Amino acid sequence: MNSVRMDNISWVEYERRVEAGAVVFLPCGATEQHGPHLPLGTDALLASAISEDVARAVGGIVAPAISYGYKSQPRSGGGQHFCGTTSVDGATLSGLIRDAVREFHRHGVRRLVIVVGHYENQWFVTEGIELAMRDIGEHGAMEVMRVEHWEFCRQDTLDAVFPDGFPGIALEHAAVIETSMMLHYHPQLVSLERIPTHGPAQFPTYDMYPARTAWVPSSGVLSSAKDSTREKGRRLVTDVVDGIAAAVRHEFGLDGAAVGS
Ligand SMILES: [Zn+2]
Repeated sequence: MNSVRMDNISWVEYERRVEAGAVVFLPCGATEQHGPHLPLGTDALLASAISEDVARAVGGIVAPAISYGYKSQPRSGGGQHFCGTTSVDGATLSGLIRDAVREFHRHGVRRLVIVVGHYENQWFVTEGIELAMRDIGEHGAMEVMRVEHWEFCRQDTLDAVFPDGFPGIALEHAAVIETSMMLHYHPQLVSLERIPTHGPAQFPTYDMYPARTAWVPSSGVLSSAKDSTREKGRRLVTDVVDGIAAAVRHEFGLDGAAVGS
């Protein structure tokens, strides 16, 4: 019962750790196409793996991921027209987050970190947190941190990983960052021989509804993943895990102490 995963420990062990003040991590991903070389669960798999590494560093617990995300947009995730991209309405995602935050609080959790792994989730996760905080009230002593994990990639790492220039996080869908991180955490789920070789997608600076699916490369990859390596993944993941752990220790006053393990 040493696991940091909530779904791998008993309620008795969970209660013990929560009463000791453990920080709980809630990964929030999507079920979305990630090109022909990565699995549909990439966003939740990465958010969960990163959460587990941070939880081990700070004595935390990782809750089961929310594995359905807000609708994939053509310019950041390829769009909804890919088979397997299975999304929920914004109100549904906000409701899931609201209910989960309230339930964690009901059982005594006072420090929660939501680790967003899917670009389009951001504002609906934010709304869910806002609604839950209103439900709980300011006397509930609940604090929630929201992170988008890719924000913790350091500039010197991005310069090294992208010697020709970083294309920006939106075009990074199923590209070098996610593929390299998957090579680090789940190499058996990556099909390197299936990485498309086409150049970056060219989008106008606006969106159209219904989506102009012709704007999107048919592979679903928005910029090439061919320069992905396990070593780049290790470096990116180290930035992200160390950065989130430092933020958690700072905001929740854990400096030097591992709580709840
Ligand atoms: Zn992704």
